[in-house]
Amino acid sequence: MKRDYYEILGVSKTATADEIKKSYRKVAMQYHPDRNPGDKAAEEKFKEAAEAYEVLSDADKRAQYDRFGHAGVGGAGGRRGAGGPNMEDIFSQFGDIFGDDIFGSFFGGGGRGGRSQQRARGTRGSNIRVKIKLTFEDIAKGVNKQIKVKKYVGCQTCSGSGAKDSNSVQTCSTCGGSGQVRKVTSTFLGQMQTVTTCSTCNGEGSVITAKCTSCKGEGRVYGEETVSIDIPPGVQEGMQLSVSGKGNAGERGGAYGDLLILIEEEPHKELVRDGLNVAYELNLSFPDACLGISLEVPTIDGKAKIKIQPGTQGGSILRLKGKGFPAINSYEKGDQLIYINVWTPQTLSASEKEMLEQLKEAENFKPQGEKNSKGFFDRIKERFS
Ligand SMILES: [Zn+2]
Ligand SMILES: [Zn+2]
Repeated sequence: MKRDYYEILGVSKTATADEIKKSYRKVAMQYHPDRNPGDKAAEEKFKEAAEAYEVLSDADKRAQYDRFGHAGVGGAGGRRGAGGPNMEDIFSQFGDIFGDDIFGSFFGGGGRGGRSQQRARGTRGSNIRVKIKLTFEDIAKGVNKQIKVKKYVGCQTCSGSGAKDSNSVQTCSTCGGSGQVRKVTSTFLGQMQTVTTCSTCNGEGSVITAKCTSCKGEGRVYGEETVSIDIPPGVQEGMQLSVSGKGNAGERGGAYGDLLILIEEEPHKELVRDGLNVAYELNLSFPDACLGISLEVPTIDGKAKIKIQPGTQGGSILRLKGKGFPAINSYEKGDQLIYINVWTPQTLSASEKEMLEQLKEAENFKPQGEKNSKGFFDRIKERFS
């Protein structure tokens, strides 16, 4: 007499698919042969759980089972004979059900026949670091750069396998192609089966008897690739961008490393970056500061027209809203700050000197206001903001 499937997995008749999966995982872990070596009863329970899961995880089979009991799903265990489901089938299911992490991490990387095709080949290629110089304009708008990278690329002759031809790849005789060697050790929990990577084939399951002549068996050759990189607006000096899979090719078909791009800012002739803000120093002639003037200033986005009000003081700061750098991955934008410097001539002609002597006496030309006035504090605060 077969036990009830819900009872086997310890779930209620109304359990969700997720609950069923979780319970199965628990039961399977408990009775897993790796934890119970040589225990026939545990193995039976393990198979029983797999059979129950096979039915309850399938909506159609579950509905049949709910209506007609074991008779409704007679094929599930029956077609495989009295022994229940085949062990290899159960193990091969694990990868699909749990992903590699569950049994992989618990049983020291153990996998069985069914999962051998997922074995990682070769070794992963290393990362490559390159520096890239960007102008303020590039940074403001974002830019696409095509850069030539000298690096290892997959060997075309052998498609990265490192083998001369298909006849020169042979199944590893040490591990029989599984890439793993099992060993029984005694621990305080009792006998434990541990799985280690086969040292003959480094876990690859196959060995190469004749090497590809182009790459000398490495599966990669030193070459060059032009990589297209989209750099988003708002990057900063010292920032590192990573382009996945554009680094060095791995050996013998292994995964590619990453391409790491270190951002460098090319200094601007007239503008200085201050976080998101841009600073610009405007030297204003004394008459222009007195009379006011319209003029153009450079910005990171071309020239901008500004108006200098009559009577503008040296040391004052004008703000061009939104003319700074964009924040990376946000709508925020900095400003351009224009620091006004009233230019004092270094030499004077006799007539200029005479004119200034006259102005010196004029009441309007005598400094007004107090030292450390509110205006001064506002300007200082602006500098620190
Ligand atoms: Zn090759
Ligand atoms: Zn091997």
